[in-house]
Amino acid sequence: MKNIVILGSTGSIGMQTIDILDSIDAKVCAISVNTNIVRAEQQARQLHPSVVAVYNEEKAKELKMKLADTDIRVVSGMDGLIEAATFPEADVVVTAVVGMVGLLPTLAAIDAGKDIALANKETLVCAGQIVMKRAREKGIAILPVDSEHSAIFQCLQGAAGNRLSRILLTASGGPFFGMSREQMRHVTKEQALHHPNWSMGAKITIDSASMMNKGLELIEAMWLYDVEPDDIDIVVHRESIVHSAVEFEDGSVIAQMGNPDMRLPIQYALTYPERLPCKVPPVDLPRRHSLTFFAPDEEAFPTLGLARRAAAARGNLGAVMNGANEAAVALFLQDRIPFYRIPELVKEAMDAVDYMPDIRVEDVLESDCAAREIVHSLIR
Ligand code: MG
Repeated sequence: MKNIVILGSTGSIGMQTIDILDSIDAKVCAISVNTNIVRAEQQARQLHPSVVAVYNEEKAKELKMKLADTDIRVVSGMDGLIEAATFPEADVVVTAVVGMVGLLPTLAAIDAGKDIALANKETLVCAGQIVMKRAREKGIAILPVDSEHSAIFQCLQGAAGNRLSRILLTASGGPFFGMSREQMRHVTKEQALHHPNWSMGAKITIDSASMMNKGLELIEAMWLYDVEPDDIDIVVHRESIVHSAVEFEDGSVIAQMGNPDMRLPIQYALTYPERLPCKVPPVDLPRRHSLTFFAPDEEAFPTLGLARRAAAARGNLGAVMNGANEAAVALFLQDRIPFYRIPELVKEAMDAVDYMPDIRVEDVLESDCAAREIVHSLIR
């Protein structure tokens, strides 16, 4: 039986992780939430974890009272998240929180020798070199949950030690596929929040609409698989059946397919190297008739070029890009900026913050803050 921690248990990935628990042999020993203590209480009573961490201090006090009749410990703030992430009996930590807030708990979990089922791509975007180096030193596994990175990982199981020569990172293209930059000046929040294939949280859905999600994933893939950004091609695949592919030296391409449902990559990360029956039905290819592939429109989606720039530069530029994007997406969700301003603000922050080639954790946190401040100063 595996003991697991779920950071971000009330979000989309956290809920789907809980949904597959009965398909795998796992016990949840700690969970963390941001503010949703109503769902946290339900989950605590259902799963009986030893620890529930609530990031928001006030909400933590409320939950403590709600769970007073149990022996579940409620902890709070970043210290609480770290306590959950390093729970002594835990074998693997599912990092399903959204954004940069996942960095410190992930590093703490690695230091404590836990394997990481990584759904929090921002951690690698901001601090890939630090996280991967520490994971190597500690000898722990980083098991990708992101569907594309899980696909690459699954394809590599058939590599027999051969190095991949290219990654074909597939992208749905989101709701604005085929639109010009000019047409995207007039899109609404409702349109941006309506993803054609995947049901996800608000932040990643907006990132998919701007294609920043694919940019973040390019950087995530670069760190996870130690490849140059130029060896990663983004391929728009509207049906989201091929979740990504790898190419080898002889030109052979191996792809992984499945229905667009996150429960499959989550389950594989938790049962690897074993495969167990899963709730997601297999793909019915004859019913699909055709699968389509397109080159991305980098002119209409400038986020892709920004991500390539951050990937090539490494250093603190990933943290700057990510921090600016998180701030800009939040402003868009609050109806304070139009959609097309998101990549513009990210670019302006990337141009403005001082570039640092070698980074420590403190530099990542500072670059993230600096990027957010620039975005806020630009819209005042
Ligand atoms: Mg993905």
